[in-house]
Amino acid sequence: MTKEIAVSGSRPTGFIHLGNYLGAIRNYVKMQDNFSCYFFIADYHSLTTHYEAQNLPQLTREVLATYLACGLDPQKCVIYIQSEIPQIPELYLLFNMLAYKGELEKVPTFKDKVRSQEQSGRSISAGLLTYPVLMAVDIIVHRATKVPVGKDQEAHLEIARNLANRFNYQFQTTLFPEPYGYNDGSDLFKVPSLDGSGKMSKSATNPNSAIYLMDDDTTIRKKVMKAKTDAGPTESNQTKPEEIQNLFDLMQLVSSSEIVQHYETQYNNCNIRYGDLKKQLAEDMVQLVAPIRNNIHDLMKNEEYLKKVVRDGAEQARQSADATLQAAKKAIGIHYF
Ligand code: AMP
Repeated sequence: MTKEIAVSGSRPTGFIHLGNYLGAIRNYVKMQDNFSCYFFIADYHSLTTHYEAQNLPQLTREVLATYLACGLDPQKCVIYIQSEIPQIPELYLLFNMLAYKGELEKVPTFKDKVRSQEQSGRSISAGLLTYPVLMAVDIIVHRATKVPVGKDQEAHLEIARNLANRFNYQFQTTLFPEPYGYNDGSDLFKVPSLDGSGKMSKSATNPNSAIYLMDDDTTIRKKVMKAKTDAGPTESNQTKPEEIQNLFDLMQLVSSSEIVQHYETQYNNCNIRYGDLKKQLAEDMVQLVAPIRNNIHDLMKNEEYLKKVVRDGAEQARQSADATLQAAKKAIGIHYF
């Protein structure tokens, strides 16, 4: 039986954090046994917001080492760097002819980025506007149907489906299947930040709001203990304010169900001590992060191995991408002799 195809990637714009791991990379690791998987480092994507790319080589190697440290196995999945696959920008050019300016301007992440870039006096590039086209191409270049990503990517996936369908309709083909987000049978979700609101993110202004997989144990404990809380519940079964709900959501992701239940009961009985909850949360995060961090450090020392993984991965990814690109060009009519 042929396996379904899965694709996903992370931008090398900073250290990988628990949001990336729990929202996406943990699923990559689970999927590599049952799907035909392509996982990449989205270096071109990082240029849409981080054009000063002097840290790109180091960050790219770190994301690669992180993928491997989390459990990706190059014998089971294809791991590559986006810019090493020339078929991607070529297909991106073709899909830019099909994408509408209006639909791209409506994407919520584009609007957010415009707001923050304008505040800091930066111009908005065409690359930022067409980010969802590049992301659509990343997926459909392997004709993937499953995309393990966090909830923040839903609008981009919708554009990818629209573009796949538009191409098929325009050129009377069935070349591109519709890609959907994947979270092991459950809905996509967002890992919250530690500063009371919003999602955990690489670009947060508060350095304590994200737990990075490279953080040492002391840093993890310090960050969690600084997380915002309130004065505590005053009535039984009270609705939790956002900052408290976020801590419970994080606990749900890293702690056992007995531990979560224990603190839920305390909250509902109004006898919760947030200090204890945070200590427990920090310890469970340390348990999760420490072995991955140690693996990252070991892998970063083995540059030859890292190089070989992406050299082999790029070869396989180029083969898959080229088959799609040639079929797409043929469907459009770009084949002359
Ligand atoms: P990025 O860091 O934007 O390149 O994201 C890499 C992957 O991590 C994407 O699949 C995102 O959807 C996912 N991701 C990033 N932040 C979060 C978060 N806070 N919660 C869930 N998933 C996330």
